[in-house]
Amino acid sequence: MRLLAARERTVPLGAPMRNASIAFDAMTASALALVAEHGGRRLAGFAFDSIGRYGKGGLLKERFLPRLLTAQPGSLLDKNGLLDPDACVRAVMANEKAGGHGERPGAVGLIEAAAWDLRAKALGVPLWKAIADWSGTLDANPRIAVYASCGHFREGGGLAEEVKAARDAGYSTVKIKLSGDLASDLARIEEARRVARLAVDLNGCLAPGRATEWFEAVAPFDLAWIEEPAPPLDYELLARYGAMAPAPLATGENLFSFDDARNLLRYGGLRAGRDLVQVDPLLAYGVGEYVRIIEAFERASWTRRAFLPHAGHLFAAHCVAGLGLRAAEAAPDASLPYGGWWSGAHVADGTMAIPERPGVGFEAKPNLFALLAPLAE
Ligand code: MG
Repeated sequence: MRLLAARERTVPLGAPMRNASIAFDAMTASALALVAEHGGRRLAGFAFDSIGRYGKGGLLKERFLPRLLTAQPGSLLDKNGLLDPDACVRAVMANEKAGGHGERPGAVGLIEAAAWDLRAKALGVPLWKAIADWSGTLDANPRIAVYASCGHFREGGGLAEEVKAARDAGYSTVKIKLSGDLASDLARIEEARRVARLAVDLNGCLAPGRATEWFEAVAPFDLAWIEEPAPPLDYELLARYGAMAPAPLATGENLFSFDDARNLLRYGGLRAGRDLVQVDPLLAYGVGEYVRIIEAFERASWTRRAFLPHAGHLFAAHCVAGLGLRAAEAAPDASLPYGGWWSGAHVADGTMAIPERPGVGFEAKPNLFALLAPLAE
């Protein structure tokens, strides 16, 4: 297998909604294609950003794609001559200092993800199968648990309708956004819980002075989990919240490296068997780094069932299937490029089977593939 070209385009994905910490009006995302020759065939591997961290065109075009394309070709391949995604990461990370991860892991994660799509297509298998074979996962399964993420803050409300639409679409657990303001949060929980089992997401905005009252007030609602009550890097506050919370805590979507995840494990006060880890492989250097994170947690008596990757992207769903994780997040609105699943995929009772297609299967998600396909021409 030989890489021929790599192309990125930053696309606007603005949406008139917000969570407790940011608005999405000016959001962008990177679409990436790696084009390769394999056995006389031309193949394209694709990746599309996780939502919420903006496109990474500058980093990719200035540093990481040139390094990938000028790497010694053999250094990117495994012993069977196939592109090795982890080796691609090592090549593009040449001359990068440790620590200070910033936006870099998301740019590198896109390259790793596109390399995975290429590798799985060369093997003629769905991505989840390629990941399972590479990582030695014994209980990999294309039928995965999925939950819906919705209930952002929008002009005009419509929370109950949105949650009902997710439940009617086959999701049994639905996550809604909260703000840390107790009165409005309780009103939102009351409105949504009539419709579905709820998880709630505070996006780091529960103020310490309100926390005791807030946790006591939500205790009766049997929440599936409480997500990011503390800012992502405030491990000491998270540990305090963990001791107070009446439901499992979930966090980690804004931790982008093994270093940060290990700090979460060491200092975040999370409890194996209860709490959930939401590191997003696409934002955190890719599957290789993600597996190293899982293994660090496993050495501390955690299981893979505690891993619930952030973001409703197709790549994460394959990671859930191929690594035997707990569940995948879904952004249920299929009219959005980053929402919904593959054409023909069907959610029922909170589970979904990943269709049998080589690679990630972007080709079966028309409004997303429309953004990717031109990059491979
Ligand atoms: Mg979240």
